Amino acid sequence: MEGEEIKIVTPKFQKTVEDLIKNLSSENGASWEIELARKFNALPTGQELWSFILLTPNGEIIDQDFDGNIQHYPFDLQALIRVLVGGSKRYPQLVQFIPSRPDDSKTCPVCEGSGIWEQSKDISTGRPAKCFICAGLGWLNEDYWKVFTEIQKELKNHK
Ligand SMILES: [Zn+2]
Repeated sequence: MEGEEIKIVTPKFQKTVEDLIKNLSSENGASWEIELARKFNALPTGQELWSFILLTPNGEIIDQDFDGNIQHYPFDLQALIRVLVGGSKRYPQLVQFIPSRPDDSKTCPVCEGSGIWEQSKDISTGRPAKCFICAGLGWLNEDYWKVFTEIQKELKNHK
């Protein structure tokens, strides 16, 4: 089905994320996480290199860098998928919203579909880490793939 849109943010998604935010307590979250979650009505899903990531019930991503600066991002499907994949380890309820690979998706050019980024190693296990471009899915949606291949071309031209 060509061009079929991936719809992740359904009423069920919103309810699931809202419930996860509500259920966040000192038993499953740090106090600063709970504080951020209440302040922004968003679910803390993890940490990236320079920031903490939060997911809103509308599928938007907020991050707070370690200096406390907040950034709201406009809706971005691939970013949402990344956050879902990353956050599903902590919140298994999110797994159901990770889309299966659509027909018009493209194989990830960084990991070539393996989902593994060979250049990076997990410090604790010594194993290669998940590809950070596709979040270990091995594929990208078409729009993101276009943007990414443009960036790659640019980089090559500047060499
Ligand atoms: Zn990849």
